[in-house]
Amino acid sequence: MSASYDDNNIFAKILRGEIPSFKVYEDADTLAFMDVMPQSAGHTLVIPKTGSRNLLDVDPAVLSKTIPVVQKIAIAAKKAFAADGIQIAQFNEAASGQTVYHLHFHIIPRFDGVALKPHTGKMEDMEVLKANAEKLKAAL
Ligand code: AMP
Repeated sequence: MSASYDDNNIFAKILRGEIPSFKVYEDADTLAFMDVMPQSAGHTLVIPKTGSRNLLDVDPAVLSKTIPVVQKIAIAAKKAFAADGIQIAQFNEAASGQTVYHLHFHIIPRFDGVALKPHTGKMEDMEVLKANAEKLKAAL
């Protein structure tokens, strides 16, 4: 049985403004910001503002607000980073690779012949994240 939602997770802290993030998009229900350990240039996360651990416990009404933003960011990321494709990833519980227990969708630009960096690998330079956030915002 899965644990319940814990609002001490790092994305809940980002939503409350307790820790910084490179935001690219925000509306009443959803936030998008740069992943600090990107698997490729422009790796972005989309999260609902309402707390749930993952896809398994999210209210479908919340999900219906989140998915259009996943699409919006994916389209903008393809343009902003001149990507050949966009990979969407989403993990549910530790066995699948989930490390932060607030539902999130990974938007990962892909480039022909370029392998992904490891999941939760190396922290990116803050200036690079800032510049990529600006590029993505300009493409929205
Ligand atoms: P997951 O393994 O699907 O739960 O992914 C969590 C993601 O959050 C990983 O890709 C991390 O690189 C990313 N991450 C962890 N802490 C932060 C943070 N403070 N700001 C942005 N991204 C983060």
